[in-house]
Amino acid sequence: MVKVSRFVVQLHDATTLHFDLRIQVGEVLRSWAVPKGPSLDPAVRRLAVPVDDHSLAAGDFEGVHEGQARGSGAVIIWDEGTAEVISDQQDHMSVTLHGRKLSGRFALTRTGERRWILVKARDDYAQPGSDIVAVSPRSVRSGKTWQELRTEQAQHREP
Ligand code: MN
Repeated sequence: MVKVSRFVVQLHDATTLHFDLRIQVGEVLRSWAVPKGPSLDPAVRRLAVPVDDHSLAAGDFEGVHEGQARGSGAVIIWDEGTAEVISDQQDHMSVTLHGRKLSGRFALTRTGERRWILVKARDDYAQPGSDIVAVSPRSVRSGKTWQELRTEQAQHREP
């Protein structure tokens, strides 16, 4: 049975800049760090490193994490929407996303220890040759880039 839930992709400036893909499964957000971010091009395979489940509330965070050791800690909500989990197995997950930037079916496949691959399925929403990360860098909530958020926060802190 297909379960309708939600998903979020956050862009996070930490030790390295990365995207956090989170898909609701039950009462948690299954999470992967995707260094290069998602793609709508079915020919592009993106490394997705599984990380701990996050709370549903974590998926609503946009702001700057204080006291982060490396990087500014800035987080924007790069995309979000509903998700239909079509199949959820130990080594494979298939979901249909309905976001502002990401649409259609995506597959997550485990290929090794702490190593999954995220790829867009070939459907009507696939955009061969596209680079959604480069074309649409802004938050879907505030319209800001992570750099703008970081700069605003820094100015806010000045006496
Ligand atoms: Mn992160």
